[in-house]
Amino acid sequence: MNSDSGPRGGDAARVTLWPEGFRAAVALTFDVDAESVMLASDPSLAQRTSLMSHQRYGPQTGLPRILRLLAEHGIRATFFVPGYTAEQHPGPIQAIRDAGHEIGHHGYLHELLTGTDEATEREYLERGLQALDQVTGVRPIGYRAPWWETTDRTLGLLVEYGFRFDSSMFDADLPYVRELPGGPITEIPVSWALDDWEKYAFWPGVTGTGTIERPSLVAEHWWEEVLAYAEEGACCVITMHPFLSGRPARARALGWLVEKISQHGEIWLAPMCEIADRAMAARAAAPGANYVKMPVQPKGSKS
Ligand SMILES: [Zn+2]
Repeated sequence: MNSDSGPRGGDAARVTLWPEGFRAAVALTFDVDAESVMLASDPSLAQRTSLMSHQRYGPQTGLPRILRLLAEHGIRATFFVPGYTAEQHPGPIQAIRDAGHEIGHHGYLHELLTGTDEATEREYLERGLQALDQVTGVRPIGYRAPWWETTDRTLGLLVEYGFRFDSSMFDADLPYVRELPGGPITEIPVSWALDDWEKYAFWPGVTGTGTIERPSLVAEHWWEEVLAYAEEGACCVITMHPFLSGRPARARALGWLVEKISQHGEIWLAPMCEIADRAMAARAAAPGANYVKMPVQPKGSKS
């Protein structure tokens, strides 16, 4: 291991980031976009009832299957829920809460932040918070920007509204703490290679190339990714959408992947709120370091 260069580089202290016995972390995250992601692109798509049903499959059919899978494996995950989705599908979103999973903020109507002014960005944040509060009573501490697109003021606003972590950046393999004028916030970075949209999403003329990946190949690809993160003591964030990964064969492949991760024995499967807590604790233990990692002993590769 020789990479201590984080987003700001430097000689970050080596402190224990993961709980004892674990060398790396995996977060299973689900963006419950449902209809919102389409309506944010083009409100007239509301008239396309088949397309809307394709999106509705997420909360109605895919989500319950995913919740069953997670319960079978005793895993807590993080679900980023647009406020509009919560309002349209209160029962399924309350089921996420009732199963003990984390609920994060994902805009109100999955709005693109690029090009917005501050008042508009605040409005999206507040409407999302309000909807999640009304439907679930949950005040989220985590945020993921719709389409993973932030502005130069997004993180500052998140701090102001009491968020403790964001998951919209791509600049590291580990969570790290950003020091902002209003206070610190943990970033838990993501990767397009670990997003199911690129694997499965397809609607003619709307999204996707028409090539729909075989679920077992996706699971194998992600297992390869997880093993590489594990070798480096890093944090592997997998991003899924219930309307995509909630389909039967895809959920089954996800179950296979979860089995592999669990059997590895040294990979911590955790919701993002717990990963953010570890990052913040590590920062407290090593003031000045914004990027921390756990010393990892070399070991034989697992397959
Ligand atoms: Zn989304």
